[in-house]
Amino acid sequence: ASCNPVGTPTITSDLSENVILTTLDDIHNWARLSSLWPLLYGTACCFIEFAALIGSRFDFDRFGLVPRSSPRQADLLIVAGTVTMKMAPALVRLYEQMPEPKYVIAMGACTITGGMFSADSTTAVRGVDKLIPVDLYLPGCPPRPEAIFDAVIKLRKKVGNEALVERGNLQQSHRYCTVSHQ
Ligand code: SF4
Repeated sequence: ASCNPVGTPTITSDLSENVILTTLDDIHNWARLSSLWPLLYGTACCFIEFAALIGSRFDFDRFGLVPRSSPRQADLLIVAGTVTMKMAPALVRLYEQMPEPKYVIAMGACTITGGMFSADSTTAVRGVDKLIPVDLYLPGCPPRPEAIFDAVIKLRKKVGNEALVERGNLQQSHRYCTVSHQ
């Protein structure tokens, strides 16, 4: 807008320079990918690397990642460490208590396959995806904090390209596995 000589404002600028067109999906995804809140969850040595992210050296928060102690306030579960059969029901319960839409990163060899426990152990779950759906696998023993960042950046890209309807269907189609036998 500008003023004519007697001070009356007149609109001279092109409307397209002042209006941003978007879709509901895009704006919703932008808000979600900028505020993924991970649950503070770790069962073994991988969690030490995850915990390092929270400190000032790696500054996890700059991505909007604010660790939460309650699953009801979290929408990202980074499973960091060995999952035992005894722990499995608690992990599934934590996942179920997280509100939709929610995401899971399987961090480390133990989480993804059972790791060094996969051959003989009768107490380790051989892959957390037998219990809950996994969005992203992060291999390593343990993965470095930089690798966790890389996984989060990839997850943000995935969230940014999602359609709301699509995510809803994904969640509904998942069937939980029982953990009594592998
Ligand atoms: Fe520990 Fe390696 Fe297993 Fe991670 S993958 S929990 S670092 S043994």
